[in-house]
Amino acid sequence: MLQPLFGTDWTQSPAHLLLLSGFLQPCQEYKQGWFNGHGWDEWKEELRESPHKVIERMIADGLLVRADLASRLSEAFKVPELKEMSKAHGLPATGKKGNLIANLIIHDTPGMEQATANVTILVCSERGVELASRFQDEQKAIYDRVESEVLSLIKAHHFKEADKIAYQYKMACNFVRPDSMFRPMPDDGRLELMMTRSPKALGGIGKTELEYLGIAAAMFWIWGGARKDVHRWLPTDFQSTSRYKNESAVMLVFGHATFLKDIHQMRGMFKKVEITTVNDGLVCPVCREAAHKEYDIERVPELPHAGCMNAEGCRCGVIAAI
Ligand SMILES: [Zn+2]
Repeated sequence: MLQPLFGTDWTQSPAHLLLLSGFLQPCQEYKQGWFNGHGWDEWKEELRESPHKVIERMIADGLLVRADLASRLSEAFKVPELKEMSKAHGLPATGKKGNLIANLIIHDTPGMEQATANVTILVCSERGVELASRFQDEQKAIYDRVESEVLSLIKAHHFKEADKIAYQYKMACNFVRPDSMFRPMPDDGRLELMMTRSPKALGGIGKTELEYLGIAAAMFWIWGGARKDVHRWLPTDFQSTSRYKNESAVMLVFGHATFLKDIHQMRGMFKKVEITTVNDGLVCPVCREAAHKEYDIERVPELPHAGCMNAEGCRCGVIAAI
């Protein structure tokens, strides 16, 4: 029987279930005061009780168990240490970590038990796995539902509504999804720009293509994530007619909307702007030439640069020149 928390069933508490799901992989629980994306202080606030107490209760309830010997050895020792131990036992001191550990256990189980006697590494029991996995599946289902709703709204050009729903989700799930990019500002018109303003860099793409690229750019702005993942918001057979790959074409639409928005916001406050570029070896001569110069805000060249020679496209931006 699971013990109630403040008279409620803790298995309904997302924070508690998130804590449990951190142990789907063997984990050294008190490591560095940081666990599953949050510091212990944040955990305490969210759980409304000490995380250590929660962990103890999960152990008592049989949801968390001590990890097996191999996991404990893996967590407690680095490869060079395992190699030294192998040598001391007359075992081959080469190969992968897993093999070193397996050989050591076969050769001297009691010795290895002894060596990890003080190592506390917990992992979900079968019942713990069941609860934690169900929680993860539910969280994913919630996210998928919101994401698909937001996508439909963007396709229908209901940008404010799309942004509002995404924002509400982020506020509600901010703790359980610490990986989600948090953008507390309301939509400032950028979403519409992404779907209606084509950058010259894409060389005159049609309205339909811009619409597809704009949808992906808008979803990227709302949900964040890696650039390479923007594909999932494009039709599977989509192929940009520009000279750029799909992923780069989406980022150019994104960059152009950002440029237009930045100029719009600075207009009236600043007369001069400066083009900034990324400081890496991939900046092309065209971008380098245009960067770090002052421009009249009404005469600044359009970004992303249409003449950029980088295969991925221009990554320049604009700031006020003060
Ligand atoms: Zn360039």
